[in-house]
Parts: sequence; C-alpha cells; structure tokens
Amino acid sequence: MALFRKSREITDFQIGNKVYLRGLIEYSNVCAKDCLYCGIRKSNRKQERYSLTDEEVIACAQYAFEQHYGSIVIQAGERSDHIFTARITAILKEIKKLSQGKLGITLSLGEQTLETYQEWFEAGAHRYLLRIESSDPKLFAKIHPHDKGHSFEHRLKSLHDIRKAGFHLGTGVMIGLPFQTLEQMADDLLFLRALDVDMVGMGPYIEHQDTPLYEASDFLLTRQERLDLAFKMIAILRLMMPDINIAAATALQAIDPMGREKALKYGANIIMPNITPNVFRNQYKLYEDKPCTDESPQECTTCLEARIHMIGSKIGYDEWGDSKHFNAHQKYINN
Ligand code: SAM
Ligand code: SF4
Repeated sequence: MALFRKSREITDFQIGNKVYLRGLIEYSNVCAKDCLYCGIRKSNRKQERYSLTDEEVIACAQYAFEQHYGSIVIQAGERSDHIFTARITAILKEIKKLSQGKLGITLSLGEQTLETYQEWFEAGAHRYLLRIESSDPKLFAKIHPHDKGHSFEHRLKSLHDIRKAGFHLGTGVMIGLPFQTLEQMADDLLFLRALDVDMVGMGPYIEHQDTPLYEASDFLLTRQERLDLAFKMIAILRLMMPDINIAAATALQAIDPMGREKALKYGANIIMPNITPNVFRNQYKLYEDKPCTDESPQECTTCLEARIHMIGSKIGYDEWGDSKHFNAHQKYINN
C-alpha cells in the first residue's frame, strides 16, 4: 500500500532503522478508577489484585539494565494516595541509583496533581504517557462514568501539567471503539498534532467481557478491521509528525501475533517487551487474549530480538531513544 511505503520511507529518513526498547513493568492492577472498557477497573470484583513489592520492581529494572534495554516503563492502575505516590518516588530514586542514571524511565500512572508529576520528574522519570483515549468529549463521556474522577477537562489539564513538570509528553487513543466514527479518528490525529506531543501510544480497542462496555460489542468492527485501522492511523500520524516516537502497542499483538512488528514496518519505532514477573501477567488483563502471559522475560527478549531482525530493523541497545521531536522543540524554546 502506498501509504505504508511512504510512512516507512519517512521513518527511515527521520528516525532511522532503529527500534528502541522500553521494558514494561506492570507494577499493580489496583485502580481507583472505573473506565468502562478496562478489565482492571475498580468495580471488576472478579479481578484478583496485586502490587509488586519494591524489591520486585527493582529486580525488573535491574533485569532491563543488564539486558541493555536502555529504558523501562512503569505502568499501573491509577492511585493518587500519598502512600502510592511516595512509594513510586522512592522506587524511581532506587532505579536511578542502581543504573547510575543510565536507565531511562517512562511512567504511565494516570492523572495526578502537578506536584506529584514534579516530584516524580525530579526523582528521575523523564517521559510520561497518559492517553486521552478519545479526543471527542462526547465519545469520551460514553466510555467513562460521569463523575469528577473521569472528566475530559481534567484529563486535558493533566496532559498540560505533565508537560509543565518537564516530561516528554505522550498520549494516544483507542481505535475501533464502539460508536467511534472515522471522522472522530481523523480528529484524534489532528488533536495529537495540535497538542504537539513527543510520543504516541495508540492501539485497537479490545473488548473484555467483565466490563460495562462489553454490552456494546454489537457495535464493533471486526478485530481485523480494528487492527487495519490502527495500522493506518500509525502510518498517517508518521506522515503528520515525522520526528515523534510512536509505540507499537501490545494490543496489536492480541489480534495478530505479528501485529507489533507490522506496526514497526508502518511507522512505529518503540516496542515495550513485557518484563513483569510471569505470575502477575495474567492479572494485568485490560482486554481479552492478552499476548505473552506465560512467557518468561528472557523468552520475551529472545523472541522479540528475532522478530525485529526479521523485519530488517536493528535494536538501539543501551540508548534512551528519546523523541527527536522533544529535542527539536527544546532547542527552539531555548534559542
Ligand atoms: N491507569 C493508567 C491510565 O489509565 O493511564 C495506566 C494504565 S491503563 C491500563 C493503560 C491504557 O490501557 C489505557 O490508557 C487504555 O487506553 C488501555 N486500555 C484499557 N482497556 C483497554 C481495552 N479494553 N482495549 C484496549 N486498550 C485498553
Ligand atoms: Fe484504571 Fe487505567 Fe484501567 Fe482506567 S484505563 S480503569 S485508570 S487502569
């Protein structure tokens, strides 16, 4: 397809042929929120809950460091109580210490106050991913409860606060949600450009039967159609924002075993191998058919390496692989 050829060409020219790794640590599935699409939402009583111990998180980070991954992502359900935020701060400091500052850290821990974002930035994290989920406030309202904890305006404010705190800003959307139109998806892409984001993580919506949005499954496109749309969104975004980082989301792989590798061919340049201890992976189930729940981190690494080489790309070992867009943007601000 001409679109995919062009997006590949632009990626090679702007970013190069390297794929950067972010070892994904699914820190906890305890969540104070109730997003209608998510398997680990607070009200899903069927979901057993876990949080990694500090030692377990540090061991994951140590593993990523020893494997020369360059960066990690710490992701979890959303909590903003002091016990949680202080624990994250302490963990960040510890990880920075063990890697002598060499391991890059991305956080994906939801909406927090500006002060918390600042505290985590100062403790050593430097990228933050918070998806807007849909840039259309009406669709956002259809997939979230209608209360103060799930407000579109607050999510937007959080995105601005993340940037204010100094982070590289990442956001994204779900693709193929029930009721979502092509116009809304096109507007999502325009939203990402208008916000001038540094990184994007977007992937197909995948239903989970223990969530309220499951009831709207009759309104869904087929999984293959959602996957194809996700590839097209990634390719078009690469044309629109040539120098940002685009992640090949795990949800792509839940539909097609080669979904993430295909996304890398069509314009993505970041991949997040799961390095969460095996015993917990099945409990961080946002959607059905989550891939790689029974493989060890070591098996994931070997498998991923082979797959990335298969598509003719190289891995940027020991590199942060920061968004070139952020650096260009900073230079512009500083001059
Ligand atoms: N709690 C944090 C937050 O919401 O930003 C971080 C973790 S949350 C599980 C990460 C992302 O998972 C969400 O932004 C959402 O887009 C995605 N997600 C949740 N449920 C999903 C589903 N059913 N299908 C696809 N993606 C889903
Ligand atoms: Fe919690 Fe994030 Fe899932 Fe929403 S998407 S319920 S905030 S884990």
